[in-house]
Amino acid sequence: MRDIVILGSTGSIGVQALEVIAANPTKFRVVGLSAGANNLERLTEQVKKFAVPIVGTTGEGSSLRQALPGVEVIDGPDSSRQIAALSCDVVLNGITGSIGLGPTLAALEVGNTVALANKETLVAGGDLVMAHGRDRIIPVDSEHSALFQAMFAGKGNDVEKLILTASGGPFRTREDLSTVSLADALNHPTWSMGPVVTINSATLVNKGLEIIEAHYLFGIPYSKIEAVIHPQSVVHSMVEFKDGSTVAQASPPNMKGPIAYAIAYPDRVPHATNPIDWKSSHTWTFEPIDTERFPAVELAKRCGALGGAVAAMYNAANEVAVSAFMKEQIQFTAIVDIIEQTVTRLGGQAISVVRDLDDVSAIENDARRVAHEALGKK
Ligand code: MG
Repeated sequence: MRDIVILGSTGSIGVQALEVIAANPTKFRVVGLSAGANNLERLTEQVKKFAVPIVGTTGEGSSLRQALPGVEVIDGPDSSRQIAALSCDVVLNGITGSIGLGPTLAALEVGNTVALANKETLVAGGDLVMAHGRDRIIPVDSEHSALFQAMFAGKGNDVEKLILTASGGPFRTREDLSTVSLADALNHPTWSMGPVVTINSATLVNKGLEIIEAHYLFGIPYSKIEAVIHPQSVVHSMVEFKDGSTVAQASPPNMKGPIAYAIAYPDRVPHATNPIDWKSSHTWTFEPIDTERFPAVELAKRCGALGGAVAAMYNAANEVAVSAFMKEQIQFTAIVDIIEQTVTRLGGQAISVVRDLDDVSAIENDARRVAHEALGKK
């Protein structure tokens, strides 16, 4: 029996993780949940269904206390860090955004293993997280789960290249991206995800963040990490070894596969997801990214290579721009423009060593301020 804590339990990853757990009641037990304030009803149902003893919300906890007698309720901004530090086998971090960094660090500090779905943890604070070593972080992002699995085919110093696949999002073949509407951008062709990740997939900012994530997770330089468009989203990523051999991991697109792998690692959960059906015919295609229409990936590599603080700026500026796009205040193509303007203005003066969470917050605040100024000019 594995004791699991889930952070961001009411979001897309959290809900799917609970489905995996519900299907495997003899393997997993939920010992703590936390979520933001916007879906306390769902959180309450989850606590009841899984008989969870401790629950946290970043909002106000009185309604939870009323609805859940006998359950310990922790509330306020620090609650997810406290839940992350509970004694357990695995903390699944399914929070969206760089607010997931503090809870990841809190889990690692007490010796917990983290199944990491919050990519911004590594983008904003990769150096801080990796100071705890690589052993206790199991990736949940489908690409990184694929790389993690493919890595077992060789030794670290035999790796020539990491190749992340990208679906290309809904606009892979659309010429004019300036007229993209919010509804267009929220309609992803292969993956069902939360709204921010879906927009990030449409701009390919998501792939940029994932390259930075891969750099930290596997300790591979940016010059050896590439992304390729694979619209079917069945090959989740590949590792190329020195001898010219490439090892790929493939399965139909369904996050339950990587979630189950991460919370059960090193075991595999039987029937976590449906396998590829080899009785029907398939075509898998691969094509390079059009860097003119999708500048976000190269920009992320440049930011990542400049050092820790610049990646955090890339992410913070994107969070501001995506939120403006979701309020329909800016054009789709302005999202990456705003990131570029922000890192161009601040990148040169970025601190080179990120020492703690306060440094990350200071960098993010600067980036948000400059991104808001850039928004004002749009
Ligand atoms: Mg991914």
